[in-house]
Amino acid sequence: MLRFCSFSSGSSGNCYLIRTDRTALLVDAGIPLKRIREGLAATGTAEESVAAVLITHEHSDHIRSVGALAGPRGLKRPDAGEGGEPEPLPVYANEETWEAIEHLPPFAGSRIPGRRTCRFSEPFAVGDITVEPFHLSHDAVAAMGYSFVSGGSRVTVVTDTGVITDEIREKARQADLLVLEANHDVGMLRIGSYPWFLKQRILGCYGHLSNDTAAELVCELLREGTAPKTVALAHLSKQNNFPEMAWQTLANAVEEAGFRIGRDLEVKILVRDTISEVFCV
Ligand SMILES: [Zn+2]
Ligand SMILES: [Zn+2]
Repeated sequence: MLRFCSFSSGSSGNCYLIRTDRTALLVDAGIPLKRIREGLAATGTAEESVAAVLITHEHSDHIRSVGALAGPRGLKRPDAGEGGEPEPLPVYANEETWEAIEHLPPFAGSRIPGRRTCRFSEPFAVGDITVEPFHLSHDAVAAMGYSFVSGGSRVTVVTDTGVITDEIREKARQADLLVLEANHDVGMLRIGSYPWFLKQRILGCYGHLSNDTAAELVCELLREGTAPKTVALAHLSKQNNFPEMAWQTLANAVEEAGFRIGRDLEVKILVRDTISEVFCV
């Protein structure tokens, strides 16, 4: 069984917890360390049980606290025994993302002690969780999505992508819980106050998924009979979306396609700055 909890989701900071009874992982560290600690405490997760952090890409809403988290005042590490130094917290990202992170001002010239490299389409195990990295389409050097598998359950996290590729579709198809970006309502974004270049960026192939695109994917999976049991809408924009709007857009599309929320799938919203419920799949 896998458990999932969002400590925060959206452009002001992202951090998710994925765990089994034995292994806990964090996806991204885009919120203050204090809030990560609060999330761990709220979910009854001991700091020293966090076995790794997985970074999706170098945007600050995903990496803000990665240095603090992995540093000497960061998360407690399991005792090494016999007076040995505890191992630094493993932090995974692909090589391109590491290079980008290490060129950013707060990190320039320094290396995260537990720096580990992972590669696209090369699954790896952390404890009893298999991590499957895949490509996202985003304006970062090499944005990486992750799917997590343990004991026959799968959680797939898809945020920060401008389009749904076949590879993303495949990971979504097999999921019990799909954490899916519903960043903006296209109408709200178009008439909103964002500058033109930013609107173009968000709407582009390397931007963010709209409520409509998220709904389209879910309907496609429902028609195929491969829909996840639960969809958690994530990375909602503060300016260009409302939780009710994201939910209703999906509900309308699902109903129009002849399906029903509650009967054919569950839909939840990850509220931006709030620790979510714990999803068990
Ligand atoms: Zn983001
Ligand atoms: Zn991003």
